[in-house]
Amino acid sequence: MDITHLVEEIAADMATRRERGRVADYIPPLAGVSEGKFGIAVVLEDGSVHTAGDAHEPFSIQSISKVFALTLALGTVGDQLWSRVGREPSGSAFNSIVQLESERGIPRNPFINAGAIVVTDVLLGHLEPREAIGQMLRFVRELAGDETIVIDSAVARAEEETGFTNMALGNYMRAFGNIQGEVAKVLGTYFHFCALSMSCRQLAMAGRYLMDSGQVEGRRIVTARRARRINALMMSCGHYDNSGDFAYRIGLPGKSGVGGGILCVAPGRASIAVWSPGLNASGNSHLGQVALEKLVHATGWSVFEAH
Ligand code: GLN
Repeated sequence: MDITHLVEEIAADMATRRERGRVADYIPPLAGVSEGKFGIAVVLEDGSVHTAGDAHEPFSIQSISKVFALTLALGTVGDQLWSRVGREPSGSAFNSIVQLESERGIPRNPFINAGAIVVTDVLLGHLEPREAIGQMLRFVRELAGDETIVIDSAVARAEEETGFTNMALGNYMRAFGNIQGEVAKVLGTYFHFCALSMSCRQLAMAGRYLMDSGQVEGRRIVTARRARRINALMMSCGHYDNSGDFAYRIGLPGKSGVGGGILCVAPGRASIAVWSPGLNASGNSHLGQVALEKLVHATGWSVFEAH
């Protein structure tokens, strides 16, 4: 299979599509991104990297950072984390608050906002916000093997100015005792994680540990069991109320962000990142999903296909 040719063909096809979804407009730095952008990067198990379109242009990874935050929190407190966050798909929007009432402040999973805010609070259990943000930046740089990755502070600031729903989530969980730190500090740290700026290439590189049973180039990042479990959560919860449809159409663990990126893992085969800023109704990249569907169809990489 000629992956270089395939990703170029996919990028060329996506450039012709008129239906592109809607660019997130809740903060100016995201609203200003051109809806015509499209990038794809595939890192294969043999280490080869295949890119097309705007694969080298950094964008706001937003909720894709929830995967890295979860990995760090599991590394810090291990399975104790699961006393504070669930592992079930929510079936509701990324920033939904409704389930928190009946579930007494325990979010359904770490990939909705409420869950990631708890995960951030866990990371702040033994660190100051500045240290936790530094730890995150070092971690993604190490995973991607790329020291040029940065956090876009203008994005973090804009999130802070408009993040009323996230603050409501934080305060509500605090009322149940499931946020232990100062809510403003937890949110400030969470927004900085969301404001990580990465290209498709950098993201696909950073996802290699999930493709390769927890290892990157022979270095162990997490155990094979933990990598498998993170992948399972990405499959069941990575796309909010669109997770079932993502599994149906693509059949791979994936995590989306409102910046239009998706990190997708074909275990044992590839780490994939796509980016197209136009979103569907659930806040996931419209063309990103279309592109992944094409990639999976051509490669047979769905985990539900006999290999
Ligand atoms: N920063 C966004 C928020 O917290 C992230 C949401 C997302 O990417 N789905 O609202």
